[in-house]
Amino acid sequence: MPLLPRRFERLQAVLNRRMGDLTVVLEAVDKPHNLSAILRTCDAVGVLEAHVVSLPGRPRTFNKTAKGSQKWVPLHPHPSIEECLLGLKQRGFRLFGTHLSVDARDYRVCDFTGPTAFLMGAEKWGMSEEALALVDQPLFIPMTGMVQSLNVSVAAATLLFEALRQREQAGVLPGAGEGVPGGEPAYRRLLFEWSYPQVADWCRRQGRPYPPLSPEGEILEQLPRTLRLRY
Ligand code: SAM
Repeated sequence: MPLLPRRFERLQAVLNRRMGDLTVVLEAVDKPHNLSAILRTCDAVGVLEAHVVSLPGRPRTFNKTAKGSQKWVPLHPHPSIEECLLGLKQRGFRLFGTHLSVDARDYRVCDFTGPTAFLMGAEKWGMSEEALALVDQPLFIPMTGMVQSLNVSVAAATLLFEALRQREQAGVLPGAGEGVPGGEPAYRRLLFEWSYPQVADWCRRQGRPYPPLSPEGEILEQLPRTLRLRY
């Protein structure tokens, strides 16, 4: 099935608003409904990619709650929280840990308009000491009820939508793909992968560049017939 122009337009519109400088790090968050709900929120807000450090031997699985958002927001696995956080720091991210420590700030007074990573802790025991040691700013969402913490996916959604609100107010939301790191070539690559995942996979396995696309999203190259039948 060729890609319909309307579908291609929609893919472009969504990618145009993705933000490579807003992300979440999920430390040992492993319940499928939580992972799924968080990725669905990431997709809704415009997060380009998310990060996870899983407990050994616990495969990451999603359920229907994700609504397929795991296809649109890659969740990058990391071997350790240190490797993940140091990598993000190196890329200029400010690390906000969700933890109620003495120096924690109310999330409503924090600035999320610059490169921002929210660290979300495990459902049972929260963030690890190792993660806390690398955090730039601990924060919390004030609560007035009897229960002491929010569900992790609810906390992630609260923070991500606050970041979106702040960025909208500051006039720094991307609208033409400028939020995709790597500029035009990276944008084109991603757009191709979103539009034709199977062809992209085949090109990678063959070690060939992705074929060019017409403005309407048609592939401008003759591909093997067997491959053409699959997309
Ligand atoms: N007993 C755990 C603790 O002491 O951290 C509770 C973990 S809570 C159920 C799971 C995660 O949700 C936390 O690690 C944090 O990322 C997030 N979270 C829950 N309530 C929060 C709040 N009020 N403010 C910020 N993050 C919160």
